[in-house]
Amino acid sequence: MASLEDLIPTVNKLQDVMYDAGIDSLDLPVLAVIGSQSSGKSSILETLVGRDFLPRGTGIVTRRPLVLQLNNIKADSPLITAYTAEEAEPTLENRLRGQSGARDTWGEFLHLPGRRFYDFTEIRGEIENETARIAGKNKGISRIPINLKIYSPHVLNLTLIDLPGITKVPIGEQPPDIERQIRNLILEYVAKPNCIILAVSPANVDLVNSESLKLARDVDPHGKRTIGVVTKLDLMDSGTNAWDILAGKLYPLRLGFVGVVNRSQQDIQENKSVEDALAREEEFFSKHPAYRTISSKCGTRFLAKKLNQILLNHIREKLPDIKARLNTLIGQTEQELASYGGSNIISPESRAGLVLQMMNKFATNFVSSIEGTSSDISTKELCGGARIYYIYNNIFGNSLKSINPTANLSITDIRTAIRNSTGPRPSLFVPELAFDLLVKPQIKLLLDPSQRCVELVYEELMKICHNCGSPALARYPRLQAKLIEVVSDLLRERLGPTRSYVESLIDIHRAFINTNHPNFLSATEAMADIAEARRQKQQNAKRSADLKKKRQQELEKAAAVGEPTNGNPSPKVDSDSTITSSDSEGEDERDPKQNKDSFLNYFFGKDQQRKDGDDIAPSFSDKQERTMDSFFQQEADFMAMETLKIQDTVAAPVEAEHPELTEREELECELIRRLIISYFGIVREMVEDQIPKAVMCFLVNFCKEEVQNRLVSKLYKESLFEELLMEDETLAQDRAKCIKLLEGYKQASVIIGDIL
Ligand code: GDP
Ligand code: MG
Repeated sequence: MASLEDLIPTVNKLQDVMYDAGIDSLDLPVLAVIGSQSSGKSSILETLVGRDFLPRGTGIVTRRPLVLQLNNIKADSPLITAYTAEEAEPTLENRLRGQSGARDTWGEFLHLPGRRFYDFTEIRGEIENETARIAGKNKGISRIPINLKIYSPHVLNLTLIDLPGITKVPIGEQPPDIERQIRNLILEYVAKPNCIILAVSPANVDLVNSESLKLARDVDPHGKRTIGVVTKLDLMDSGTNAWDILAGKLYPLRLGFVGVVNRSQQDIQENKSVEDALAREEEFFSKHPAYRTISSKCGTRFLAKKLNQILLNHIREKLPDIKARLNTLIGQTEQELASYGGSNIISPESRAGLVLQMMNKFATNFVSSIEGTSSDISTKELCGGARIYYIYNNIFGNSLKSINPTANLSITDIRTAIRNSTGPRPSLFVPELAFDLLVKPQIKLLLDPSQRCVELVYEELMKICHNCGSPALARYPRLQAKLIEVVSDLLRERLGPTRSYVESLIDIHRAFINTNHPNFLSATEAMADIAEARRQKQQNAKRSADLKKKRQQELEKAAAVGEPTNGNPSPKVDSDSTITSSDSEGEDERDPKQNKDSFLNYFFGKDQQRKDGDDIAPSFSDKQERTMDSFFQQEADFMAMETLKIQDTVAAPVEAEHPELTEREELECELIRRLIISYFGIVREMVEDQIPKAVMCFLVNFCKEEVQNRLVSKLYKESLFEELLMEDETLAQDRAKCIKLLEGYKQASVIIGDIL
């Protein structure tokens, strides 16, 4: 290898794959030149780069660090643009230097972003200007670096650093501690282990006094990354030579010393090209009596070769790490790819199987969610089947329980119903007819909660259906949407029949009022309840009336001297009492027979029906007689009562004034109200039991059993497969990216294998 450019193809290939693989750069070492002022540092860098662009000369020229970043670009890079009209002709200077084709190589300064310098003479001018701008015109130095990037297909991605020379005596604007300042500035760069130090010493100064070697030894005591460069071999006193140094006899450096001859001040003034200088340098060594034998290990070309080797070694050292990293990346990417369903594109033949598989999985998920056998059962909230049972047992059950069966029925309503069912003449079975008339609409109160129950279960099934997807299905959003659509349609379709069945069920309960239901409160029981309630109230009333009477007698005694009080005690009682008037006592006694008869009739009527149903002769059984006895007993109790306003125990507050309500009417109303509550309770219990069964049968189980068939019949069609299996776009992109990455990584592995 003769120049740094020889590494370009390998490094580029490697860096390409590494870039694709998202691995950080190879992190190639940085080259820094250090040495005393005018020792030839800038000259060396220039020759290594193969371009004239650095300010060189006597005195302190380099006064700010120059960070020179070489960036390799492809020869066909779109970055490379054609000559503009103004630049149609390369400058005369460039043409003279044979750099007419330099359009693919340019420099850019960090402080002048976007401006391309195709003319390297201009670059040098800009470095000088920029140096003066920050470091002043009078030999001042600055630690702020100038950053220059060179873009070219002919350079290696490498960073070179030109540094100010080590100086001892402050001159011009330099501060008294200039030596320390420069030293620190240099150390900032060369102390980094990634820095290869080119320690420059001019041959015309005694090596023992070499400032660069001293400084390099401070940061690289074992000389692992220091290359000694001896310049100005052409300027040695005649009769002396640097053979000892170059042969490593004088100063031990692991990487050795390289002797070079740069362009002299005169060469610079004469604009001697890099190529000419290199040729002359080679000639110098091959003809020099002292260096002739070692000429192949002398000169700038050899220095470049040495650097190449160091860089290559560096790359090789890093390769195992890169390879390991690549392997990890390959593993990860393969895994990611698998999560996207692998790299294999689905063949038309395998589509059917795939659709069927996804479909089955979806149907299974739907069913198992309902059955509560799903593998990913949530512990946070009730879902699926459990939620459906919750709807039945809690939501529906409670909404039924909360219905007050007579809340919307006033005593007036009941009385009106009784009167209407009586017609023009009083009927013996009046209460039963009225009861029938009144209880039917009440049963309708059960419809709303029942329909709500259907809806809640339907909504829950919808929710389940939307959560039946799987990771594999996410890859095919169209298929997923269709699966959901078909199941949603099925559910919607079943909603109607379920609702109408539920409606029918309530209608059925309204169609026939079965007063023979064994749990239905008998008139006897109802009467007993009423009588008991009245007795209680009457007792209370009597107690309070006695109290009043006693008090009045005391008052009368006390007022014995005055006018004697006459007539009945006041019929008025406290408002919280239910007693109204003692006059009603007379009313009761006025027609006890009629009351008794009508209730007996009602009672008999009902029991007679029962008897008929049981096919028993219409004579009183023992049981009946016992019941009769108790009834008469209660009646007797009742007859003794004062008229009482019926105090509602459950609901339906009685209006305060019912002057036209007869005792019989009141009793009938209360009786009917109690019977309605009893009957409603029976129907409610049945509805609570039947509605969930109906919902299960018409909606839940139906869909559970039908879902698979429905999916197959709607979606398992050859003509649909292609569309159904259209992949999610982003997922397809991710997968494509994965495949590309994987290819890149594998290619990189091959390249690494070649270099190793
Ligand atoms: P720097 O200050 O270390 O960067 O040194 P420069 O590269 O600016 O060189 C300082 C001066 O020494 C310039 O005039 C160069 O032409 C001259 N020079 C550098 N190297 C050599 C060399 O090997 N031989 C001769 N004859 N002159 C050299
Ligand atoms: Mg310099």
